[in-house]
Amino acid sequence: MDHKDLHIETLAIHGGQHPDPTTGAVMPPIYQTSTYAQEYPGKHKGFEYSRSQNPTRYALERSIASLEGGEYGAAFGSGLAAIDCMLKFLSPGDEVVACNDLYGGTYRLFTKVFSDYGIKFTFVDMSDENWFWTISPKTKMVWMETPTNPMLNVLDIAQASSVAKAHGAMLVVDNTFATPYLQRPLDLGADVVMHSGTKYLGGHSDVVLGLLATKDEKIAEKMYFIQNASGAILGPMDSFIALRGIKTLHVRMDRHCENGEAVAQFLANHPKVGKVYWPGLKEHNGHEVAKRQMKKFGGMVSFTVKDAGFEATAEVVSAMKVFTLAESLGGVESLSGHPASMTHASIPKEEREKVGVTDNLVRLSVGIEHVEDLLADLAQALDR
Ligand SMILES: *Cc1c(COP(=O)(O)O)cnc(C)c1O
Repeated sequence: MDHKDLHIETLAIHGGQHPDPTTGAVMPPIYQTSTYAQEYPGKHKGFEYSRSQNPTRYALERSIASLEGGEYGAAFGSGLAAIDCMLKFLSPGDEVVACNDLYGGTYRLFTKVFSDYGIKFTFVDMSDENWFWTISPKTKMVWMETPTNPMLNVLDIAQASSVAKAHGAMLVVDNTFATPYLQRPLDLGADVVMHSGTKYLGGHSDVVLGLLATKDEKIAEKMYFIQNASGAILGPMDSFIALRGIKTLHVRMDRHCENGEAVAQFLANHPKVGKVYWPGLKEHNGHEVAKRQMKKFGGMVSFTVKDAGFEATAEVVSAMKVFTLAESLGGVESLSGHPASMTHASIPKEEREKVGVTDNLVRLSVGIEHVEDLLADLAQALDR
């Protein structure tokens, strides 16, 4: 059966997967090998050396390609290694236009590493429809994240795709927060979709990895060339763990979204809460776009503690017991974060406050525990 005819729930389990040809093993075995026997010089079974190809990694690469509605996938040692691969498509003098509410590590890789190689980055508020004026003839890549971290801004992928195409630039979408279950950027015109598989795809906070997917053969050729030439590949054991996580993606995401909605509604009605950022709320400024391009609204919720400064806010997150205070997101367990002092601490106070990352902002990665336990935990932390 052609995978294009299958639902995403089925693709999460079977997409690009086949029982192992040598043994019939239903789960792809962990091919913990660096090299492969050749019958005769150059005569082999498609695998020569595990930086170039590995059967377990290949199974994961086929999986992400099928989930994103692409033809080609590539797996890397981290989300940042996947971003690094895309940036190596560029040459000195090229320009990148990126949304201004970016994952901190992406921002750091852009401004502290690749800007030293003669690539220019411009950051713009892509929810302002005039953002395309920042595109120049040298713009070779448009980079966007949606929903964004931690403000949960929603950006219009189809609109960005037509802008990028009109200017001959490639559109790359970081789909980490939504996952292909909620949103498929390639279907909306993106050229490449990128993931930190560390988050929802892996889903259990037990592995760090990055993924790319594309429909375009020319892009794929260069992507595989760079993957092999630079060597930032994912190992077979971690590929296996990621594949196992992906099998339950849809089931987990449904519960993340359900619990996320309950948490957002609870916070919106709580007297000690100022603003609530969740794309499913009607008042959210990206709600209409989110309704159009996402299946559901996700499990990430940010909010401000009303009239609180750094210390009062730090006390609220420290008082939570079911929510663990930690970096990262997207695992089965609920996490809380204080962006101003954690994920976004490296961004100057003035800069981060401009985009809304104030000292009283809390970010929640709502897990799949019983919703009543989550709400009770938030209540006791806020009511102290
Ligand atoms: C975590 C994250 C990354 C970086 O991925 P790593 O796996 O940590 O290298 C990139 N983008 C977003 C949106 C993320 O949340």
